[in-house]
Amino acid sequence: MVNEKYYGYGTAPSVIRELFAYGLEQAKVVGKENVYDYSLGNPSIPAPKKVNETIKRLLDEEDPILIHGYSMAPGFENVRQQIADNLNERFNINAKASELFMTCGCAPALVSVAKALTTSTEDEFVLIAPYFPEYNVFFGCDGAKLKVVPADTEHFQINMEELEKAIGPHTVGVVINSPNNPSGVVYTEETLKKVADMLTAKGNEYGHPIYLIADEPYRELVYGGVKVPFVPCVYDNTIVCYSWSKSLSLPGERIGYVFISDRVANGKELYAAVAGAAREIGSVCPPTLIQRVVGECVGCDPDLKAYDENRNLLYNTLTEYGYECAKPDGAFYLFVKAPNGDAKAFSEKAKLEHNLLVVPGDGFACPGFFRLSYCVSNDMIKRSLPAFKAMIESYK
Ligand code: PLP
Repeated sequence: MVNEKYYGYGTAPSVIRELFAYGLEQAKVVGKENVYDYSLGNPSIPAPKKVNETIKRLLDEEDPILIHGYSMAPGFENVRQQIADNLNERFNINAKASELFMTCGCAPALVSVAKALTTSTEDEFVLIAPYFPEYNVFFGCDGAKLKVVPADTEHFQINMEELEKAIGPHTVGVVINSPNNPSGVVYTEETLKKVADMLTAKGNEYGHPIYLIADEPYRELVYGGVKVPFVPCVYDNTIVCYSWSKSLSLPGERIGYVFISDRVANGKELYAAVAGAAREIGSVCPPTLIQRVVGECVGCDPDLKAYDENRNLLYNTLTEYGYECAKPDGAFYLFVKAPNGDAKAFSEKAKLEHNLLVVPGDGFACPGFFRLSYCVSNDMIKRSLPAFKAMIESYK
């Protein structure tokens, strides 16, 4: 006998992984250069030089036992202070080491926050489409109900009327992700202010705070000088979940944090509950070496030139062919409207006829669109363009 819920999670098919696996198999048949795989969100630029140099230096210079030893449960205080200093400098806030809790990436940060906020199966989290499919698992893990705000498919900001309808007396948190996976859109300050006003009013009406959970692994991946507002500056009751998986291209190193400022209602209790929840899922003592590395490299700016070139090439060419999509300002995704509105059929046809692997938006709660991860080589994009052209022409 095994736990049915976890068995379900463990055996549920993943469209993205299946596409990726299909691509690997097809590469053996038709050659790697004839498979155009836009399925995975795995960074394709190397970590900044300083990251590898710091790893080497720490391995050479530090105590050989301690550098591989356990860290403190919330992370090293000096590392948390380095991160707080960086946040203070960039966003003109007053973050303290004691407000940061280090985690093994953004995923356990989000799960710990979800668990810390869930007190009964009546509780509700509001998710805003399109959203990262794993939220269904992360935020539903302790039985809370999930309410989905349908996508604003014109601009991919937030549909405020629908958000208002989704919030009720049992809402404990609203989850936002900007720059967004899968749309690549950055929520504007104006959007965030409207959300903040609504959550403040609703919190007053229902007599309890409604937290804004800002999932931000793509915070630094923005193009053309666009600024990503720091959400705690717009709404006090914000809990930030962050990782260096995308910004420093370190997804395999599993390092991130939860930031709960003292300005958050019940912030201290919430911080302790996040620590307790992380303990329950066994996501404790994030890797010592990598904590030390991100502490030293927190100010490193990634070189986004390659992503930006890919973004421009794909966006400009696809829209010229007649595809419709919101221009992404951030992350490394393009979310494109399927020519006849059926993204699943489009994805299947593209796969079978052209070895072009695109992810239907259904899993992101936004059918009718498909996602392209452009963290790929520029050459692959160029080689794939005739396939995109043939696909749209086949619908005319
Ligand atoms: N949130 C979003 C929106 C993501 O796209 C991802 C990963 O793709 C995560 C969270 C998880 O990030 P991490 O690898 O740091 O756990």
